[in-house]
Amino acid sequence: MVYPIVKFGDSVLERVADTVSEFDTPELNQLLADMFESMYAAKGVGLAAPQIGIGKKIAVIDVSNGENPADKLVMINPKIVHFEGKQVGEEGCLSIPGFLEQVRRAKRVTIQAQNAKGEEFEMTGEDLLARAFLHETEHLHGRLYITHISALKRDLMKRKIKKLQRAGDWD
Ligand SMILES: [Zn+2]
Repeated sequence: MVYPIVKFGDSVLERVADTVSEFDTPELNQLLADMFESMYAAKGVGLAAPQIGIGKKIAVIDVSNGENPADKLVMINPKIVHFEGKQVGEEGCLSIPGFLEQVRRAKRVTIQAQNAKGEEFEMTGEDLLARAFLHETEHLHGRLYITHISALKRDLMKRKIKKLQRAGDWD
């Protein structure tokens, strides 16, 4: 099923998610399938469980946006173990629709995570995949990408969002 995406302002987005300890269960597999479905429906390249209101350390990524099955990636309990270089580029978030900001990130990032079966793996990504690793792992720690932009830009964004909330256009 396609879950509605939780928007900025909901506290579930700013809490540290719980570590997952049960793997390879029908519930987890269903949740992962639903997360991919929800991400594709929202046309995103990454989705963290808190974004559908579930406070668990689970994220899915597909930088090909459904074009290449080999790009489908599940990360459970991910940790950033190495990063290097830099890239500056536009970044957005399904939970903050309608906004894009220039964000400076590492160019190459290595994560350690578990898959749906609980097996640990390490993976290195560059460019967009590196950005997705960082963005989604931060979601699981209650951190949003707007913490990486200037306070001035962030305040402007928050004011615009407040306006949308008052108009009932932000649910
Ligand atoms: Zn996001």
